[in-house]
Order: sequence, then C-alpha cells, then structure tokens
Amino acid sequence: MLEIPEGEWGKNTTAVKVENLEKDYGKVKALKGITFEVRKGEIFGLIGPNGAGKSTTLKILATLLRPSGGRAEVFGYDVVNDADKVRGIISYLPEEAGAYKNLTGLEYLQFMARLYAKDEAKAREMVELGVKIADLGERIRDKVSTYSKGMTRKLLLARALMVMPRLAILDEPASGLDIINAYTIRKTIKRFAGEKGVTFLISSHNMLEVEFLCDRVALINRGRIIETGTPKELKEKYSAENLEEVFMKAIGAGV
Ligand code: ATP
Repeated sequence: MLEIPEGEWGKNTTAVKVENLEKDYGKVKALKGITFEVRKGEIFGLIGPNGAGKSTTLKILATLLRPSGGRAEVFGYDVVNDADKVRGIISYLPEEAGAYKNLTGLEYLQFMARLYAKDEAKAREMVELGVKIADLGERIRDKVSTYSKGMTRKLLLARALMVMPRLAILDEPASGLDIINAYTIRKTIKRFAGEKGVTFLISSHNMLEVEFLCDRVALINRGRIIETGTPKELKEKYSAENLEEVFMKAIGAGV
C-alpha cells in the first residue's frame, strides 16, 4: 500500500469528492452530472434501480473508466491524473467478480497478497487477516471452483479488505446472497469501518438493506442524484417509513 504521511490524511476529512461527473457510452448518457461527497470513515451508499449509473460511478472512482465530463477525487487525488496514486489506496469489488477458479481460496489470497504487500512478512499478515474475514473454515483449502456464490463473494470481500484500503469501493457486495451470508458481509463492513477506520462506498439496489448499513446515502436515478442524506433525514423529509418509500416519493411515483 502507498505510504502517506499521517498529517496529510489528518487534514483531509473528505474521502471522495465527485463534481458534475458525466459518462456517455456512445449515445447513452449513463451519468448526467452527478455531485456528492463521502466523508472519511463513513459507510456511504449509492442506491438506485437497475441502470441508474451506480456501477459506472464506482468504476470511474476505481480508475477503470474515464469520465466524459466533470471530475472525481479520492483523498485529494484526481482519478484521471493521479490514477496510480488512487489505485494504491483503494480496493474495488466488482459486481460480477470471478476469483481464479483453479486456485484454492487460500492460494487465491496468497497470490493477491503478494501483489500488494511490500515483503513476505506483510503478505503473510494480509493472508492471515484474509482467512479470518473470509471465514470459510477448512473450505479455504478447497478449489474456488467448488464454492457457492456466497462463499466466492466472501472470499472476494476478504481479498478487498485484507489489504486495509483507505477506501473500499464495493459494487453490490451482498447481491444474490442468502440472509446469513448477507448479514455476515454487512457485519464485516461495519466492523472495518468502526474499528479500522476504512471508508466504504457501496452500491446497492436493495434500499432496505442499505438503510441498516449506511451512515449516509445518495439516491441515484437515470444518471442523476436525486437526494443525499442520512436514512433518518430522508425518511423524515418524505414522511416515509423506509428508504424504498423515500425513493418512490422522490421520483414522484405517487405512493
Ligand atoms: P445495475 O443495478 O443494473 O447494475 P447500475 O446502476 O449499476 O445498474 P450502470 O451499469 O452504471 O447502472 O449503467 C448505467 C447505464 O449505462 C445503463 O443504461 C446501461 O445500460 C449503460 N451502460 C453501462 N455500461 C455500458 C457499456 N459498456 N456500453 C453501453 N452502455 C452501458
């Protein structure tokens, strides 16, 4: 991981700054000028329906896509001009991620740790942490090709967190998981935010789930942010029982 002098982080309370961000895929305007900020140490949820622009936003912040307009910074580093610096302080969990299926879970974590760690001792430390996060018991020694979807997702989350990123960008981390695995993943995220000070930017279309997980959320619809706030603030503003109702009222769906 990139070493940054403590003072520099200390002064900076903004983890992510997105300003008028635009992304066109040919004629499709996926992002139409979105603006939001994520504060250091918080769990921030970008939530909205299918096709709203969540994955596109996350990929731009993870330096995998170039924006068509506007700008975005991660801890003060521009995602286009300082892409290498950004890559050194984030980890990114894609929505549809595959782990190397011919490796065992343990071999996969060892392989990834060697890419990130400065030396063998640090790599071992990362793997030890990764094994704990994945929480797969003896199955960690089995090939990834034999894992269920939930087991693979837990392994990938372990890979993303064992490197202790400043910012973890997780695209639909609990998507398609049963309640036990989804609960475990949410608990891990909360623990890393609370105890280790990792900042999280997560996307989800499950509005009820993020309500319990996120400190603040931005609601995104058709490439535009339509609301930002704490779940409590938004529920009060719209006299709604939950974020799903907030969303429907905010887009004028007449509930
Ligand atoms: P989901 O919850 O379904 O994953 P999302 O909110 O993550 O949706 P995006 O994947 O960011 O949404 O897509 C936003 C818009 O951009 C959609 O209209 C989508 O069809 C379009 N889009 C995304 N990727 C591409 C691409 N590579 N080429 C063309 N259009 C794309």
